[in-house]
Amino acid sequence: MKKPVKPLGLYIHIPFCKSKCIYCDFYSLPRAEDRMDRYVSALCRQLAEIAQRTTAHTVDSVYLGGGTPSYLGEKRLRHILKTVKKHYHLSRDAEITLEANPDSAGDWRTLRALRRAGVHIVQDRALSLARDGETLTGVAGERGWYPCRAVVVTTGGVSYPLTGSTGDGYALAEALGHTVIPPRGSLVPLESESPWCVQMQGLSLRNVGLTVWDQRGKKIFREQGELLFTHFGLSGPLALSASAHMDFTKGGYIASIDWKPALDDKKLDARLLREFAERSNQDCANALGALVPRSDIPVMVQWMGVSLHTKVHEIRKDQRMALLAALKGFAIPIKGPRPVEEAIITAGGVKLSELDPKTMQSKKVPGVFFAGEVLDADAYTGGFNLQIAWCTGRAAGEGAAHYCRGAEGL
Ligand SMILES: Cc1cc2nc3c(=O)[nH]c(=O)nc-3n(C[C@H](O)[C@H](O)[C@H](O)COP(=O)(O)OP(=O)(O)OC[C@H]3O[C@@H](n4cnc5c(N)ncnc54)[C@H](O)[C@@H]3O)c2cc1C
Repeated sequence: MKKPVKPLGLYIHIPFCKSKCIYCDFYSLPRAEDRMDRYVSALCRQLAEIAQRTTAHTVDSVYLGGGTPSYLGEKRLRHILKTVKKHYHLSRDAEITLEANPDSAGDWRTLRALRRAGVHIVQDRALSLARDGETLTGVAGERGWYPCRAVVVTTGGVSYPLTGSTGDGYALAEALGHTVIPPRGSLVPLESESPWCVQMQGLSLRNVGLTVWDQRGKKIFREQGELLFTHFGLSGPLALSASAHMDFTKGGYIASIDWKPALDDKKLDARLLREFAERSNQDCANALGALVPRSDIPVMVQWMGVSLHTKVHEIRKDQRMALLAALKGFAIPIKGPRPVEEAIITAGGVKLSELDPKTMQSKKVPGVFFAGEVLDADAYTGGFNLQIAWCTGRAAGEGAAHYCRGAEGL
């Protein structure tokens, strides 16, 4: 018989949980214990049915996600895993993962039973890494002690703590003698006290330019893209990227918006003259709609020192020049970043020069590896931070496996 070779990952969704987390976007059934048995038997029937289509595959990973799968209880979980083992070609070293909250993972007896059933990844909160001299001996978790030869620390940063990353990794690293570059929120919206922001809140701009100057008048950022006015200031990709260059310990910044980055002053003035000539008898309230979004018109007329009802032919040259200046450099003073809870990523973290770049292994304590946002590495939006997490995660995972094989003399 031909050996099944194609790899297959099984994701098994367990929708039950104690309560719905506010960031959870998955289908979940809080407090629906009465439906668990029916769900599990339907699930097992479906697993058996689908298995008939996977005879050419070897399952190399089973992921029980949710909800809170551990909430299902040991007996039901064993039943599901037994069904998988019975109907699928399960690789001998398949990775079997169970999402668990500490309060539903159960005690050691439950964890051991799950281990016997095949689960070999548990989720717990790491509190400290223990070592005997230079040798790592294990991880102390909230629910117990995990002896190990190697550990990969991927605890994330301090931003968006809703997702579980609250900076624990920094304390773990420092306790081992690592240097941690002070963490701060990056890719974060910007706060301004400018009344213009409140007036234009909700206005989303495309293809505008954003330039940012520091307290000494030095240009620190210039890019073109999307920007969003909010009740607190500026957000959107341009504001987030700009924030990566700002250090508010030294004071505030001036951001300047170029609404027409494709036109220089001369070309823009020619466009204004053309538009004004075509609409000379219209009110500003209507005529300016050809140049800026509707919700921006009241702001622009204030800049020009005219009213919404001023006729275009009444606009003086100095007022047209004021409009031109506003369109090419709409200044917004920036007071500071939004709180770290709203930052997309964390800048700062475990100092890179203290790690082996090929394996991400600590140069201070062998067997300890770091990956992802806990590192002093960050980038713009666009997938680059996930790329950092995945690349360093792979290097660290392979490094740790290699280290363990070496330690076992394999
Ligand atoms: C809203 C939002 C949108 C984003 N969009 C993008 C995007 O489009 N592109 C992009 O590249 N990046 C994006 N990012 C950033 C990206 O998600 C992160 O850079 C990346 O997830 C970092 O991965 P990580 O595994 O290092 O850390 P995290 O994803 O933060 O994971 C850390 C994990 O460690 C766990 N943990 C923490 N402390 C402990 C402990 N003591 N014991 C055990 N576990 C612990 C946490 O619960 C968490 O599950 C976004 C981030 C946010 C918040």
